[in-house]
Amino acid sequence: MGKAINKKRVYTFGNGKAEGKADMKNLLGGKGANLAEMNLIGVPVPAGFTITTDVCTEYNTIGKDQVVELMKAEVEAAIATTETAMNAKFGATGEEGFPLLLSVRSGARASMPGMMNTVLNLGMNDDTVKIIAEKSGNEKFAYDSYRRFIQMYGDVVMGVEAEEGEHCPFEQVLDKVKEAKGYASDNEMSVEDLKSVVEDFKAVVKEAAGEDFPTNPWDQLWGSVCAVFDSWNTERAILYRRMENIPSEWGTAVNVQAMVYGNMGETSATGVCFSRDAATGEDQFNGEYLINAQGEDVVSGVRTPLEITLVGSRRWAERNGTSEEDRAAKFPSLEEAMPALYKELDEIQQKLEDHYSDMQDMEFTIQDGKLWMLQTRNGKRTGAAMVKMAIDMLEQGMINKKTAILRQEPNKLDELLHPVFDKNALASAKVLSKGLPASPGAATGKIVFTAEDAEVEAAKGEKVILVRRETSPEDLKGMYAAVGILTERGGMTSHAAVVARGMGKCCISSAAGLTVSGSAMTIDGVSFQKGDFISLDGSTGVVYEGKVDTITPSLDGDFGKLMDLADKYTKMSVRTNADSPADSKTARDFGAQGIGLCRTEHMFFEGDRIWAIREMILAEDLEGRKTALDKLLPIQREDFYGILKAMDTFGVTIRLLDPPLHEFTPNDDATQKEMAEKLNVDQAIVKEKVDALHEFNPMLGHRGCRLGNTYPEITEMQARAIIEAACQLKSEGFDPKPEIMVPLIGTVQEFKMQEQIIRTVADQVFAEKGIKVDYLVGTMIEIPRAALTADLIAEAAEFFSFGTNDLTQMTFGYSRDDAGKFLPIYIEKGILKHDPFQVLDQEGVGQLVMKGTKKGRKTRPELKVGICGEHGGEPSSVEFCHTVGMNYVSCSPFRVPIARLAAAQAAIKAKAAKKAKK
Ligand code: PEP
Ligand code: MG
Repeated sequence: MGKAINKKRVYTFGNGKAEGKADMKNLLGGKGANLAEMNLIGVPVPAGFTITTDVCTEYNTIGKDQVVELMKAEVEAAIATTETAMNAKFGATGEEGFPLLLSVRSGARASMPGMMNTVLNLGMNDDTVKIIAEKSGNEKFAYDSYRRFIQMYGDVVMGVEAEEGEHCPFEQVLDKVKEAKGYASDNEMSVEDLKSVVEDFKAVVKEAAGEDFPTNPWDQLWGSVCAVFDSWNTERAILYRRMENIPSEWGTAVNVQAMVYGNMGETSATGVCFSRDAATGEDQFNGEYLINAQGEDVVSGVRTPLEITLVGSRRWAERNGTSEEDRAAKFPSLEEAMPALYKELDEIQQKLEDHYSDMQDMEFTIQDGKLWMLQTRNGKRTGAAMVKMAIDMLEQGMINKKTAILRQEPNKLDELLHPVFDKNALASAKVLSKGLPASPGAATGKIVFTAEDAEVEAAKGEKVILVRRETSPEDLKGMYAAVGILTERGGMTSHAAVVARGMGKCCISSAAGLTVSGSAMTIDGVSFQKGDFISLDGSTGVVYEGKVDTITPSLDGDFGKLMDLADKYTKMSVRTNADSPADSKTARDFGAQGIGLCRTEHMFFEGDRIWAIREMILAEDLEGRKTALDKLLPIQREDFYGILKAMDTFGVTIRLLDPPLHEFTPNDDATQKEMAEKLNVDQAIVKEKVDALHEFNPMLGHRGCRLGNTYPEITEMQARAIIEAACQLKSEGFDPKPEIMVPLIGTVQEFKMQEQIIRTVADQVFAEKGIKVDYLVGTMIEIPRAALTADLIAEAAEFFSFGTNDLTQMTFGYSRDDAGKFLPIYIEKGILKHDPFQVLDQEGVGQLVMKGTKKGRKTRPELKVGICGEHGGEPSSVEFCHTVGMNYVSCSPFRVPIARLAAAQAAIKAKAAKKAKK
């Protein structure tokens, strides 16, 4: 352990110097690494230091006391460096100068906004507050900072919180004062009020925590540092990590930094800004600020902030119906209110964006006329902004093509592919309110007022809109469950706005006329209840009454450019899982190059078709079955004709009937009666047949090729329908490429028997029509035995398609239909990292995929290999498929662009890794 004990745990920064730098994110966290880097490139940053993420891991393994001991000397030295840089003294009591006050903030490798603890104004006590009051000449500011500190420290470090059903005890104190004095806001409190609040707050702490509020700044520091480490493992942080796929081993760094104040009076301000528009991607500096305020005030939504730029301010006024005169007088931009400081800020934002070659999300404070940058990071953005920024930056020469591709989060494209409101429906929709367009997209749903209700209703399959006064990290689960979020308060950088944009959910904040209280809301006096429908347009900020129809958006030029670029790098092609000509067309429009899985059984559920298959199931003998199948033949042929035509020139993999037959028969008495009448048999016979089809374990029962091998006439009919459709198309001048796929084989004999039927039928059809088409016969690999004997199977099969849904089911032994009962608990307990039905289990199932591919190609080097399980549209699984050397992935139509991008990223990364190895 000797080596570990001596390692460096604390990295200082300040006054243009830093021990860390930007590429040390793993050790210093994103915030710490960027604070160091900003110092190195000459951006003004308050001095401080970062305690590494390694220390968090130590904290969680060897415990608090030992960790404090291990880093004590380094922290003391770092405080001394900070004191020198800031010309202030930690715990000053008089002669030593201005007291050094600190902020203590978390900062993990990946940003986790609002998920962990922060303590501000640390170092305040009854002595320092007096010195600060005297030296700043601003007693109100000093006591206001002190009461904020006691509240924050009491809450975060000492665990003082509201009793069940009660208001936070600190807020109760504030409310009492405000009520007694008739104040509308905290700002109106006098110095005397604040002094008495400080005393009352200390009493609240003593009462709730059973000990005095700590007056020693060092005790305050250690308490805060440990509280930040503790917050890595709070429920909300764990939930957030799970949603964002952030490993718990990463840990958080702790940033301790000199405080600067935006609330020192009218020459002070604070704000949040973005170097480009995080919602649309527009190359326009933007952000929000407040004069005489602390950072929290801007993001918490308690006060509605003002725009930083004049352009933004004018746009805001237009949206809001505010006249230019009123705007300039009452809501001026920073550009107008503090022109010189604005100019400096504008130059810094440009410098930071150029330095990082990416859109920056920055926090700043102006303390008594001096600008300080508190944070910069690559900004979160919507899917649309992600695409636009990458293409703009590529065209502006800031980044190269590969970076433009790698910078995409493929899953975020989803936001671009999903519906917007139908313009016609919108024209007749009643506008209820207008707020800030905090996160784009359209949503229609039932109103809920709590995160819990959102979860409960969403679990029932309802689409819900979460309506809150403002949101906090506690609402995360509900925001995740909702289709849209509406808040009474808050600006574009409020919690609701930032989190919703990250999630790709539509959000409107500060809706005019909206009042939310408990389980009701009113808009301009009209009340709405839980369960009422509303619709939100997060792109314009308009709230509509009732349901409004949505339509699929048309994809703009940047999206097309990005997709074209992706295709230049991709090695795998992307196919789609589609069962109808309409879906095939959608997928082709999204760039699908063929069909990887056409589930023929889906066609049987449409209209009257179900009766033909029921007739087949009910038939007593082969002849009866053939009569029923003859009815299905033209229907299937027509479907295959449409699909092969929509995918002309591209391969179309058509799978033979797969599900157990009981899926086509009715279980309820009424439909059994209807079936008996329609098919002219006794109801008892129907019931008998249905009962006979019952299986204890249908997913492992009479399904897949076991159907075709026991009822060869089904395979005959399907093969005939496919080949006849292809011949017809060929005679019309098309170039159909059918690939007939046998499902669920475990032995090569199962496959060969089906193959023989297919080839015999094909030859018959060719002879009948006097026309020949090229076709392939291949198989799904979805049973572990098939993967393990892939070398034998490839002797006969011309292609493999990994059915990773069934392969996952059978490898884990988790029923696809029942796993929902325990998988969420497994994930919560950390037994599994992901749901293996969503994210391919590379460690286990992946081995079978790899082995199956290798063995198959050993026998047949040119073997075409693809994947058609749900994983084919999941980015990390697509990357794995690339590594395995698959020819294609196949996924649902709306995921095709996501898979195309993920496939391009996989190819770029693999090439880079190969180069690095050399
Ligand atoms: C599979 O098992 O992965 C597959 C694609 O088939 P299905 O989901 O239809 O069983
Ligand atoms: Mg399957």
